[in-house]
Amino acid sequence: MREPQEFEGLVLFSKNFKEKDKLVKIFTEQYGKKMFFVRHANKKNSQIISSIQPFTQSIYIGQIKEDGLSFLTASKDVTPFFNIQKDIFLSAYATYILNLTDASVEDGIYDPLLYGFTKQMLAYINEGYDAEIMTNIFEVQILKRFGLSYNWLRCPICQESKGAFDFSEVYNGVLCEKHWYKDENRCHFHPRAVHFLRLFSQIKTEKIQSIDLTPETKQQIREALDYIFDNYVGINLKSKKFIDDMTKWQHVLKDSENKN
Ligand SMILES: [Zn+2]
Repeated sequence: MREPQEFEGLVLFSKNFKEKDKLVKIFTEQYGKKMFFVRHANKKNSQIISSIQPFTQSIYIGQIKEDGLSFLTASKDVTPFFNIQKDIFLSAYATYILNLTDASVEDGIYDPLLYGFTKQMLAYINEGYDAEIMTNIFEVQILKRFGLSYNWLRCPICQESKGAFDFSEVYNGVLCEKHWYKDENRCHFHPRAVHFLRLFSQIKTEKIQSIDLTPETKQQIREALDYIFDNYVGINLKSKKFIDDMTKWQHVLKDSENKN
């Protein structure tokens, strides 16, 4: 047996395996995504259980296998994202972010940038930054991992970087208002939505201040991102459907409150 390794990681999901054991998928900083077998995780007084809860980051000790299941034996410096864990809205957005991370890269691929970005976004949501906006920033920036390297910066025809923009599949990114006529099939996103998508594509996570958007602007951004994800990314995540349903119910509840 090789010496056990020590590594940092973020729980992507976990599920029961037989009666007492668990399978936990962890995005490790050093080895990429790995599926771990945790023996006796469901036993009472299991030391490891707190570190394999959803929305938890930790230092783990275990055996990393090239193929097949790896093994977790211990953990330390467990950092649970408590505010996400106890809030159904925040956990819905965090689950979607973790699912996107999981879908965007193969298992076992070393990707410390994506690891750091995912961890940072969860930390921001946990600290109280707007979960919808953090999710939008994450969505725009993860498009590259799905092979979609859009130009968000300036018009490819005249280099304009200010004013109103739309999004064009033909031009692989934004198009300034003067050149909208060049693409009849441009996406017709709301210019305000494109403005924020451009901003989100460039924003450095360490520079994210509390951005404040109206519900209307959020909706316009949501519609633009849904269009891009439905048509060009093409993944169907249950967690995204859950967010959509949750948003619908919020509207229904608000409407009925207003009527009373
Ligand atoms: Zn132009």
